[in-house]
Amino acid sequence: MPFDVHVLGTSSARPTSTRSVSGSVVKCTDGTVVVDAGEGFQERYAAQRKHLKLKAKGVTLKPSDIDVLAFTHGHLDHTWGALPWLQTMDLEHRQQPLLILGPTSPGVIDALVEGTPLPDDTPPAELARQWRAWFELGGQYLAFPVRWVLGDPVSGRWVELDPTTFNGVLLDEMPQPMGWKKCSLRAVPTTHTVPSCAWMLGQGSVKGAFDRERAKALNLSTDERTQLATGHDVQLADGMTLTATTFRLPDYAATSVMISGDTASMAQGFTPELAPTLLVHEATFLEEQRDKAEEHLHSTAKGAVRSAQHLQAEVLALTHYSSRIKSSRHALDEALQEADGLPVVALGDGDRIVVEDGGTVTHFIRNEDGWQEASITPNR
Ligand SMILES: [Zn+2]
Ligand SMILES: [Zn+2]
Repeated sequence: MPFDVHVLGTSSARPTSTRSVSGSVVKCTDGTVVVDAGEGFQERYAAQRKHLKLKAKGVTLKPSDIDVLAFTHGHLDHTWGALPWLQTMDLEHRQQPLLILGPTSPGVIDALVEGTPLPDDTPPAELARQWRAWFELGGQYLAFPVRWVLGDPVSGRWVELDPTTFNGVLLDEMPQPMGWKKCSLRAVPTTHTVPSCAWMLGQGSVKGAFDRERAKALNLSTDERTQLATGHDVQLADGMTLTATTFRLPDYAATSVMISGDTASMAQGFTPELAPTLLVHEATFLEEQRDKAEEHLHSTAKGAVRSAQHLQAEVLALTHYSSRIKSSRHALDEALQEADGLPVVALGDGDRIVVEDGGTVTHFIRNEDGWQEASITPNR
């Protein structure tokens, strides 16, 4: 099954007359992930479902399919719609378990595990503070099973919170949604003014390639390389055995979607081997406000392109525009100046991007009649 990405808000910081704040829904083979849920999320989600029902027969976004709510960070334009939406699902008698994930700082993790007060310098836009407030506002009484999990994406320490005591228990690793087999979720550290991460969702599996570099470094003969590449161990003249499995690079997801959240360009965890099929990246500013982007740890449209190129993303989609950007066309035009063949699209509210299993990516632009298909072609 392809990925179906629904971007329900493309404005940064505050809504405008044509754009809402952040919140995306991504469907994959095993289930559905919601990435961020800013103000008004549940209304936008309901409106998208209704539009699908009327104008895109066969495409659905069932609330019961949602397994995960993953936050990129704690700024309110990414979180303020979450609690009302959770409470609505409760009113609708949701039974399915929900995993809630978000980034935090090492100091907060220590405090949660030790049961001590949060560090004094913990900012308001820290998910631990917000979740505690949500628990007090009714979040602890949700009747469906919820796992509240915070983590430091840099060190990989994850902690599960008890919504009644607010104590945390360290986990061996970040949990995956219950019952998932073919898809996996990963937190990639980004660079913002509060703890933050991008969410990468991969599905399918491709066998890792033969490690040519290692074979070259060991000066192996063609015959020895063939043996190892076909899964046979090789005995060297000095008696040493080379194991075939150690010459295989790790398996990787066949296709993947990465949603950046708010970040400066070239985020700390962005490495070329991530190579997402689709990167949805923030482009809060244009070049004329580059200083502001750098000051507040956001990206410009060109900065998003640099990130995508460094990540070896196959397609880049821009979102999270400041209210200064009157038309996303301006962000797109700037991005294309730097793109050097990388396909780039500028998203609007309600747009969808479908990533087929074979890697084909299609942009569907939302309009009154449904969605207009726009092919994505390299701009070389
Ligand atoms: Zn934001
Ligand atoms: Zn932010």
